[in-house]
Amino acid sequence: MACAPTLIDVHGRRISYLRISVTDRCDLRCRYCMAEEMTFLPRSEILSLEEMALIAERFIARGTTKIRLTGGEPLVRRDMIDLVRRLGDSIGNGLDELTMTSNGTRLAHHAVALADAGMRRINISLDSRDPETFRHITRHGDIARVLEGVAAAQAAGLRVKINMVALRGLNDREIAPMLRWCVDQDLDLTLIETMPLGAVEADRADHFLPLTDVLADLREQFDLERDDHRSGGPARYWRVKGSGTRLGLISPLTANFCDGCNRVRLTTEGKLYLCLGHEAHVDLKQAIREGGLAAVDEALDAALNIKPRRHDFSVERGSAPAVTRHMSVTGG
Ligand code: SAM
Ligand code: SF4
Repeated sequence: MACAPTLIDVHGRRISYLRISVTDRCDLRCRYCMAEEMTFLPRSEILSLEEMALIAERFIARGTTKIRLTGGEPLVRRDMIDLVRRLGDSIGNGLDELTMTSNGTRLAHHAVALADAGMRRINISLDSRDPETFRHITRHGDIARVLEGVAAAQAAGLRVKINMVALRGLNDREIAPMLRWCVDQDLDLTLIETMPLGAVEADRADHFLPLTDVLADLREQFDLERDDHRSGGPARYWRVKGSGTRLGLISPLTANFCDGCNRVRLTTEGKLYLCLGHEAHVDLKQAIREGGLAAVDEALDAALNIKPRRHDFSVERGSAPAVTRHMSVTGG
């Protein structure tokens, strides 16, 4: 395949980070993420793992250095580990990092294979360490399996970051204890504000908790120092002094981060979304199925021209979704 130019969008931002939603399916039903009765895509509409690998390899050839596999729950897709191994072959050969976001329920089984494929870090979602609250938020999840997954990932040598969505009235009292636990277990912690993505039954605005309030509270209890680490995304970082724990805060509604945005998202059905908060996309499934990799390259060139300058989420929007697709479709 001919050498194609680096992906730089119309606003001068280099696209170095690809997130792939490998499945829209999940074994949990977190209240802020999915409706209880979700309908999932028919198999014929989703990219095969081979198509995902070919598209990802085009991104790597064009300067993408980091890939995150997400979903839905990536580990519920059969043969997922084959995709991890295939992409792992590009580490050190264009790709700097291959990583994953998982709910952890199946991680005890897969952690060693992920590490063997070259994965070094993983994000595991855990909104509560209380079994009942965890079950309530996820609608039926078993916390024991997630904790086993965290332990297995650490034992396999993966650096683990816990993702916790801050939910007023649901887990707000658990945030400081969660940070303390992360310090004790040598885990990183990222707190996330709820985002208005896709319709869910509950009024998401009721549980919206601004992280500015959370941070003020944490600073009274922990010795936090600013950490200049930047990921090109909405996270801002702190260090818990005297520990290995990095604290990240993702506040897409209260902070603007779009000027340095380096990322795009490929959905399970092959749509490449250029911004989490916009509908702008190109169809890479159609491109690869009708015109092969040359057509994928053309579609990527077109995508660079339509990447929005910034998202338009707002707190005032209340419970109405800013975009109708769920996080599980676009990939968190
Ligand atoms: N199933 C995996 C998991 O839960 O880690 C990966 C996919 S999940 C969509 C990725 C991340 O997005 C999770 O940390 C989840 O908590 C977060 N998330 C889902 N819906 C969200 C929303 N509406 N607002 C903020 N974060 C959300
Ligand atoms: Fe599943 Fe992750 Fe969404 Fe929870 S946040 S329902 S685990 S995709």
